[in-house]
Amino acid sequence: MAGGAGVTRKVVVVGAGFGGLAAACELAARGAEVTLLERAAVPGGKAQRVAHGGFAWDTGPTLLTLPAVLDEVLGLAGMRLRDAVRAVPLSPLCRYRFASGATLDHHADRDAMVAGIGAIDARDAAQWPAFEQHVRALWETVGRAYVDEPFTGALDLAARSARRGAGTVAMQLGLRTLGQHAARWFRSPEMRQFVGRFATYVGASPFRAPAALAMIAAVEGAGDAVYPVGGMARVAAVFADAARRLGVTLRLDEPVRRIERDGKGWRVSTDARTADADAVLLDVDPLYAATLFDDGSAARDSLDADRGRTRSLSALVVHVALRGRTEALALHNVLFPANYAAEFDDVMERGALPSDGTVYVAAPSPVDAGTAPEGHEALFTLVNAPADLRASDDASVARVQDHVLARLAAVDPSLPGRVVALHAQRPMFIASTGSADGAIYGVAPHGSLGTFRRPLARVAGARGLYLAGGCSHPGGGVPMTVRSGQHAARTLAADLRLDVAPALAVPA
Ligand SMILES: Cc1cc2nc3c(=O)[nH]c(=O)nc-3n(C[C@H](O)[C@H](O)[C@H](O)COP(=O)(O)OP(=O)(O)OC[C@H]3O[C@@H](n4cnc5c(N)ncnc54)[C@H](O)[C@@H]3O)c2cc1C
Repeated sequence: MAGGAGVTRKVVVVGAGFGGLAAACELAARGAEVTLLERAAVPGGKAQRVAHGGFAWDTGPTLLTLPAVLDEVLGLAGMRLRDAVRAVPLSPLCRYRFASGATLDHHADRDAMVAGIGAIDARDAAQWPAFEQHVRALWETVGRAYVDEPFTGALDLAARSARRGAGTVAMQLGLRTLGQHAARWFRSPEMRQFVGRFATYVGASPFRAPAALAMIAAVEGAGDAVYPVGGMARVAAVFADAARRLGVTLRLDEPVRRIERDGKGWRVSTDARTADADAVLLDVDPLYAATLFDDGSAARDSLDADRGRTRSLSALVVHVALRGRTEALALHNVLFPANYAAEFDDVMERGALPSDGTVYVAAPSPVDAGTAPEGHEALFTLVNAPADLRASDDASVARVQDHVLARLAAVDPSLPGRVVALHAQRPMFIASTGSADGAIYGVAPHGSLGTFRRPLARVAGARGLYLAGGCSHPGGGVPMTVRSGQHAARTLAADLRLDVAPALAVPA
């Protein structure tokens, strides 16, 4: 029986993004009666697929790092990612193209990296082995201490990092920004951009984010990143399957309208029903979640605490349908502008779409036949956008589409002539997943202590209310949101004294 007093505890999870799905699986495995309420018709949140005219594109995540984290959750249902999804290894992990005309393929292999960087700058190439060791040590000590366990304070994190052998690795960061840290290691503008871009993986500006985010280079460079055939929506469907196998009641097309206190528990209302729960776990941005509670309630005030802090990046996505193939593209590509600082001035400081923004391009058709008809190709392209839905008016969107095509033409001059269709996906889509202002990752982790100020699993002052998802600790990105779901579920389980030990039932 779950629940210390021998009663089954009821938990409502709001939102079937990766955080909500992971939390629901964990809680069900610990014996809770879990209802997962999802506004959309499909699970996955930001990770969906859209189709037009025989082409199909992802709506959000395309690059899957740390797949082993996902297996921890699937294992509770006796499942494994590699059995359920064809996961294509990436080589290169990502192809970076710079305004200078230089190209760098990110490989896990050190010698390949040294050779690639050597074609750009010989001194930077000589720096790579030490830099790689530095970011790997940072990730294995401070990073894992921060990500793999619930956050309980900076001092505790320092102690846990030290136990993992951090030594002086964190001291090397000082109070520098990621941009400053990149400039200490590398002299070429290309390598500084390469390192700086990892800030955008958590929706931050490299010129304001802490140097510790350099560790994301180690996560991307670990060599286990994959492309899931069918896109990340397919992975979300596998998570939903795991949740159902574990006994979770998943209700799609059921937006939660209101959550209120009900004695010691909570009452959660949709248009169709009202559910009573001992605890509620929210897989949405806290600023949006606040709107589900009554004005003046402790829950609303607590969830609203970060209003006014700088929001993380949003994104304007352009889905491109093409005749033929673009051989010069790898599966993941980044096309950098000449002036990176100007891009973040535009987006973060002026709240405008960039006049010359970085273009990210995913080209999955060579390994994912379901994305395009024979002899055709689907490209997912993305430009950083401000977390301000007013910035994506029709004229701005048309300008971004032209910019994307111009940058793609520099990769392959034949490309504009091969375009069959273009579809813009505005930041409004991101807002519709429960992300206030379309900010993908909630508050931007800016400032040297920025990452320590993420919302934590327990909502302060509102007993029985918990947060998970890309806006909470440890941060955004699919594996991090899965971690957030695990942390929130385990915190909730400890508070409710769910006493069933989850059994790992992974097939041999
Ligand atoms: C364009 C883009 C590109 C990205 N690229 C990558 C990438 O390459 N790799 C990577 O790892 N990450 C990437 N990310 C980030 C990643 O997608 C997110 O961090 C992660 O998917 C968020 O998961 P989540 O658990 O926070 O839930 P979300 O995906 O935010 O889902 C929340 C869910 O809650 C539901 N909901 C909202 N309100 C209600 C309500 N009232 N009632 C019921 N349900 C509700 C929504 O419909 C949604 O399904 C990208 C994101 C975007 C937008």
